[in-house]
Amino acid sequence: MKKHLLTPGPTPVPPEVLAATAAPMIHHRAPDFRVLLERTVGRLQQVFCTTNDVLLFTASGTGAFESAVANLVSPGDSVLAVSHGEFGERWAKLASVYGADVTSLAVAWGETPRADDLARALAEKPADVVFLVHSETSTGVVADIEALAAVTKAAGALVVVDAVSSLGAVPLETDVWGLDVVVSGSQKALMSPPGLAFAAVSPAAWERCELATSPRFYFDWHRYRKSYESLGTPFTPAVATVAGLDVALGMILDAGLDTAFARHAALGRACREGAKAMGLKLFSPDDESSAVVTAIFTPEGANAKELVLALRDRFGITVAGGHGDMATRLFRIGHIGWFDVFDITTALAAVELILTDMGAPITRGVAVSRALEAYGEAVAVP
Ligand SMILES: *Cc1c(COP(=O)(O)O)cnc(C)c1O
Repeated sequence: MKKHLLTPGPTPVPPEVLAATAAPMIHHRAPDFRVLLERTVGRLQQVFCTTNDVLLFTASGTGAFESAVANLVSPGDSVLAVSHGEFGERWAKLASVYGADVTSLAVAWGETPRADDLARALAEKPADVVFLVHSETSTGVVADIEALAAVTKAAGALVVVDAVSSLGAVPLETDVWGLDVVVSGSQKALMSPPGLAFAAVSPAAWERCELATSPRFYFDWHRYRKSYESLGTPFTPAVATVAGLDVALGMILDAGLDTAFARHAALGRACREGAKAMGLKLFSPDDESSAVVTAIFTPEGANAKELVLALRDRFGITVAGGHGDMATRLFRIGHIGWFDVFDITTALAAVELILTDMGAPITRGVAVSRALEAYGEAVAVP
């Protein structure tokens, strides 16, 4: 059976990228790897829109999260995590593991966090570091990081952003927005296999890192910066994944970041319009910000877990389920990275078939054509 990977991570990997990962192995202390590393990090800086150091770890995205906490937070430090889903909760848990005094600014799942609420929370209880999530993959909400970062800076705290599923999909301006640390990973919009995580670190974050007393070894940022001086990495990196990522970043930058952002917005629009045409209700916001993943309710009585399994077993299509309590009600179609509109119509057509078999009350025969039509529509000017 042909397989279709339509989740928000890992995501499909283009053949050129896969081919690069299959090249003969090179040694990570040899000159050819140095050239590759230097080029890849330079490309990452362009995608992060930063001149800050971008550190590269062999880890999943959560490894870069942990590096940020370990290098910035000392036991007893006051930190605030803005939590509007699974990944905001992860920041809060991680910071408490490191002994921080954690305040969670919890926003209901599916809601978008507001800058004035953050400003109020920071006025009530100041924080040294604020942790944010750009694209909350569990809900489909993309937060206004520029506004949240501005109130964080105004309150004198360092701003740390999870951009794992947003980097390369929606605009993110590390330097212009003054983001101190931005973390991401290889396996989402960057069209590469899992295995690499990144942290872009500002001069202010480096200053705080000097003072942080939490124990760290593998994720000690200083080791990475020191190795970079000789164009190396402190430990054996995932060499093959770096080779693939280099090619993927080259593809993204050659086409231009704006092209990628416009494609993601159009894919989100196609997915939303197709789902609604079928009569389904959206959980993720019904606007252009939802460019990363579309979270959709199944109709009353149709179990989303069964839908997800049937898609996989009958058609080889993998979509994501809902997290936690949402598992029976929600499914999520990803559209980050190497996706085109026919991936969206494939998902919609298959969902339509399975829901029909499940006896769910949906409108048939319209989702695919509505999605194709919406894909081509110009972005509405507000
Ligand atoms: C995928 C993802 C992560 C990282 O998950 P890993 O499994 O550790 O790579 C973190 N935050 C968001 C928003 C994500 O989508």
